[in-house]
Amino acid sequence: MIDTHCHVHFNAYRDDMDDVILRTLQKGVFMITVGTQTTTSANGLKVAEKYDGVWATVGLHPNHLCEQEFVDEQELGEGEKVKIKTRCEMFDHDYYLDLARHPKCVAIGECGLDYYRLPEHFDRNELIAKQKETVRQHFDLASEVGLPVVIHCRDGSPTLTTSAHTDQLQIIREFVEAGKLQRRGVVHCFTGTLEEANAYVELGFLISFTGVITFPPRKSDGPISPLQQVVRDLPLEHIMIETDSPYLTPVPNRGKRNEPWMVEYVAQKISELKKVSVEEVARVTTENAKRLFGI
Ligand SMILES: [Zn+2]
Ligand SMILES: [Zn+2]
Repeated sequence: MIDTHCHVHFNAYRDDMDDVILRTLQKGVFMITVGTQTTTSANGLKVAEKYDGVWATVGLHPNHLCEQEFVDEQELGEGEKVKIKTRCEMFDHDYYLDLARHPKCVAIGECGLDYYRLPEHFDRNELIAKQKETVRQHFDLASEVGLPVVIHCRDGSPTLTTSAHTDQLQIIREFVEAGKLQRRGVVHCFTGTLEEANAYVELGFLISFTGVITFPPRKSDGPISPLQQVVRDLPLEHIMIETDSPYLTPVPNRGKRNEPWMVEYVAQKISELKKVSVEEVARVTTENAKRLFGI
């Protein structure tokens, strides 16, 4: 299997990163460790250099476009209320171009639109405009170097009149119609609707699921959650698996730090939901990842 999106070079693994990577590789799981700003993009490549079976991506996460501090309860296990502090960065094309040429760099991103986290002390419209502009800069770079993109897209409060997925799809369509983004990409940590997933698939994108699909449904959901229904309905040919570790630890390890090898729980849940073997899920999602990232 391939954990197609983790952050194994982040501070959460400061004391034992090499152990975590070796433990994951020993289980036969490869990984792609994802950059989110200038420092983590450069560091991810350094880690990838050290290991066969580890690759990296470089990019600027939308949450790093403005300075903010937040406690992310959704992304961390219960009881792990870790404060995340972000710095303000602008996308530096030449800096990322240089990193993108590294032989272990397999994609540009994560980049995208995050309407969930628009800090109150900034003008919302200005921030959204800045996020969109930054996405376009990533797409131009990906087109220039011939790499796929890793997209982070998260919708915000219902009071927002625009949807992140609608806006994201529009920008992708614009680029695809202009003959750019030849290698396409993946929408990571997908939590949207089936209609949204299908719209990305029609544009040639893959959809990647995290441990969120292992979370139990709400009482009002019935036997499975709406997201689990999306997994059931979307053909395996369009799916990849990831942990997004250290965040989003899957069931049954909630409350512990997530690690890339736990992607096996994501595969297990897909196998249950789609009533196909885990081997089949592993085989098809791995093929999809190899094709997209050229590994
Ligand atoms: Zn993300
Ligand atoms: Zn991520």
